[in-house]
Amino acid sequence: MDWINNTLNKVNDLWDRSLDRHVRVAVTGLSGAGKTAFITSLINQLLFASSEYQLPFFEVVEEGRLKASKLELHSELHIPSFKYDQCIEQLTAEVPSWPESTKSISQAQIKCRFKVKNPWLKKVHEQSVLTVDIVDYPGEWLLDLPLLGMSFKDWSQQCLNYLQSERRKDYTKDVVRAISSLEFHKDFNNRDDDGYIAELAKQYKESLLQYRNTEGDNSIALPGRFILPGELTGAPVLDFFPIVNEDVLSLDWSSLEGSTLLKSLERKFDYYKREIIKPFFEDYFSKVDRQILLIDTTSVLESDYEAYQDLKKTIELLLTGFSYGRSNWLKRLFSPTIDKLMIATTKVDLIPPDQHSNIESFMQKMVAQAKNDVGYEGVEVETMAISSVSTSEPVTTEHNGQPMLCVKGLDNDTGEPVLHYPGKVPSTSLSRTEWQSLDIDFSTFGIPEIKADEPLPYIRMDKVLQFLLGDKFS
Ligand code: GDP
Repeated sequence: MDWINNTLNKVNDLWDRSLDRHVRVAVTGLSGAGKTAFITSLINQLLFASSEYQLPFFEVVEEGRLKASKLELHSELHIPSFKYDQCIEQLTAEVPSWPESTKSISQAQIKCRFKVKNPWLKKVHEQSVLTVDIVDYPGEWLLDLPLLGMSFKDWSQQCLNYLQSERRKDYTKDVVRAISSLEFHKDFNNRDDDGYIAELAKQYKESLLQYRNTEGDNSIALPGRFILPGELTGAPVLDFFPIVNEDVLSLDWSSLEGSTLLKSLERKFDYYKREIIKPFFEDYFSKVDRQILLIDTTSVLESDYEAYQDLKKTIELLLTGFSYGRSNWLKRLFSPTIDKLMIATTKVDLIPPDQHSNIESFMQKMVAQAKNDVGYEGVEVETMAISSVSTSEPVTTEHNGQPMLCVKGLDNDTGEPVLHYPGKVPSTSLSRTEWQSLDIDFSTFGIPEIKADEPLPYIRMDKVLQFLLGDKFS
């Protein structure tokens, strides 16, 4: 009776597809924004969701309709699996630790069996299964999108402007000098040259990484794989750098021989665009139904005005990927599929609850223009202040005779409970002077003891789930 089962499976499959019971959610954000912690918590909440462990704002659970969820192997076998088991083990270990951050793309698939709500659909099937694919990718890779519209010369010009800024000069002056001294018209056809170019490309990447890690600036006009190479670590495709000589940039390059150094660098840049950036956007990015962008606003509030401006610029750049309808050449390349975008500020367990709306509003102001552009494309956009794994609890104390809400967690060194008040979190954007008088300190806590047979403590993950998946459980 195999054929009957097969036919029934096919009918079920078709029925689920016709009802759109498959959703692909992509999670992104710059390094350290909290993607790994977020995906671990998202999967964990779904696995635990039941009548015993409630997710108050996630309707399918609240209505008692979510029967069970389980992790499955995703069908795109060429994409590495998100290491959920390893992440959860680390968080719930006797000496807990944060799982390793996102370095490349990975995917997880979770299937949720639920009772159908719609009275008409219910007549056909009482229960259905929603397949949720969760794709994790570095936000840095999204920053590559504008490169698709640039020639090597355009990109070099942009890098030159960027490298000339006072803040960056200190880090890049040596490598810029070395690049400037190259003879770009010289024939470039032996292996010694190749080795030297690879060495210079390495130095270029290292100087920018050092700048980025020290100054916390992500608004770097460079290929995302220079920062997070993923599977391209050591691959020759990344052995290029921009032309930083004004006189060479002002030349007409079309008459140059194909064997020159300049043409060789140009070929690598074009290869990177064609073979790395374009497939990434075609294969992963353009097949996403829903997107969540995570931003660590707590770090930037502890930084300076320049870091804030840099982050703002970077987020705007990141979000251009979701408002490509405005740009015809991008629209021709990728047809838009995203219908919902959530922008969430993470780690708000470091802030007393009465100030969560402040940090959300502060982030909203930071992304206002970009959010508006994405909304213009017909994408439903929502912002939220969340914590994937909460390390604190709110406690009211007294300050100058007035009640004051603080956060209580475990001291990172001693493991003893400590109280902390981070200062007054701003709710609007700040001028340079206002920024100077900002007195904020988000002290981090140790991870509390979390039992492996209980869900991870969180803040607003139920609301995130409702926004991203709620309507799919009809
Ligand atoms: P990724 O680079 O985007 O994958 O970022 P991770 O998920 O690895 O998070 C980076 C770091 O941020 C972690 O190692 C934690 O120290 C911290 N973090 C992430 N999520 C939370 C959270 O919900 N609460 C707190 N307190 N810290 C978090």
